[in-house]
Amino acid sequence: MIKLYNTLTKRNEELIPINGNIVKMYTCGPTVYYLPHIGNMRAYIFMDTLRRVIKYNGYEIDGVMNITDVGHLTSDADDGEDKMEKSAKRENKTPYEIAEYYTNIFFKDLEMLNIDIPEHITKATEYIPQMIEFIKKLEAKGYTYIIDDGVYFDVSKFQNYGQLSNKSLEDVGIGRVEENTSKKHPFDFALWKFVPESHIMKWDSPWGVGCPGWHIECSAMSGDILGDHFDIHTGGIDHLPIHHENEIAQNDCAFGHKVVEMWLHNEFVLVDGGKMSKSLNNIYTLTQLKEMGYEPLAYKFFCLNTNYTKKINFTFDAIKSAQISLNNLRKLVLEHKNGNYKISSEKITNYKSKFLEAINDNLNTPLAIGILFDMLKSEEKSIDVYNLAIDFDRVFGLKLSEIQQEKNTFIDIPDDILEMAKQRWNAKLNKDWKTADLLRDEIVKKGYKILDSKDGYEVVK
Ligand code: AMP
Ligand code: ZN
Repeated sequence: MIKLYNTLTKRNEELIPINGNIVKMYTCGPTVYYLPHIGNMRAYIFMDTLRRVIKYNGYEIDGVMNITDVGHLTSDADDGEDKMEKSAKRENKTPYEIAEYYTNIFFKDLEMLNIDIPEHITKATEYIPQMIEFIKKLEAKGYTYIIDDGVYFDVSKFQNYGQLSNKSLEDVGIGRVEENTSKKHPFDFALWKFVPESHIMKWDSPWGVGCPGWHIECSAMSGDILGDHFDIHTGGIDHLPIHHENEIAQNDCAFGHKVVEMWLHNEFVLVDGGKMSKSLNNIYTLTQLKEMGYEPLAYKFFCLNTNYTKKINFTFDAIKSAQISLNNLRKLVLEHKNGNYKISSEKITNYKSKFLEAINDNLNTPLAIGILFDMLKSEEKSIDVYNLAIDFDRVFGLKLSEIQQEKNTFIDIPDDILEMAKQRWNAKLNKDWKTADLLRDEIVKKGYKILDSKDGYEVVK
């Protein structure tokens, strides 16, 4: 029984798929206007773990993730410029080139994190007809009105507006900037925005030339592929108060009933306890971390050590210990690969059920990792333990089955550097601090770094 925290009901609930053995799930994908940062990637690590847990329990998944390549304005509400058009101007490219460039980078990041890619990847620009149809449906039912800059959704017609974030229509202004428009209610949002001729991304519609609102994209794409009733919708917590509130309004009004059963949101990644921001120069990408010697999988491991519903604080000390801990995990796994002790089937069953209980308790990955470490440390070296660790890794996706005998990490370190590191470690054990320091300086000069821990060291590029 998989229990998940449903942000709609604010309770842990059992996942009971609507369609027997198939779980239908939609994930809000990235807006491909810039480099994805490590905070964004937490949302997809969360999606990955969720998919893996569902599959581990024997279900199949019909999953969709969109790529927002049009319509997301610089503010989540309806003001500001289109993020794609803005980047295109900055980089002197077309919005289509920008989308292609950053989509490729996003998929490389997913690959580096060994993320299980959803069955359908949908680009917003390829679903414009479905979006127009969706708006027409809402219009026919009387939920829309037209003003000077677009077609809007009239939230006052939807009694349940605000159910995710517990806001009422009287709470005007919360989370919103009052705009200079003739909208009827500040929560009303654009379904279709008219755009000037200069706009590159634009389409004909029954209401005039324009582009879709950001929220209609997800409703139209999920509706097209998953239908009018599906199991799970995921996204980052920042999407909850506006984007997902608006998706629910569109869905429920177009179809006349609840469309999504469970809403799941990942919490944010903070950096040094605060927000990531350009002005603080603390927005990191996976590639930057890699250049500093930290593997993308160490970042994934770092994320898995905190439940997705909790904020996580990224610091360089934290990623360093995640890298060391991942390397230790690999060492332990390898040691068991060559072990010939036989452990009892009761013990195996016991570990397996404890593990299953942890992951099925709203993806309690920190506990599941603890169970894995306990098992690896406390059992005699045994291929049975190795096999179980590889089985558990179907949920973590840390590529534990690909560890090589001699290498602790996947980053190649030249032999002369490894030799120097070994000499330094021996010097340290002999309390010959001078030699140890000299060797360390030499290693740093050559572009490598040594990470020490209680019981060993790692060399990173
Ligand atoms: P965007 O491209 O802005 O739509 O964001 C892509 C995904 O990253 C969304 O699910 C966001 O909610 C999520 N996200 C953005 N910033 C962070 C952060 N600092 N921590 C965790 N998730 C984030
Ligand atoms: Zn979305």
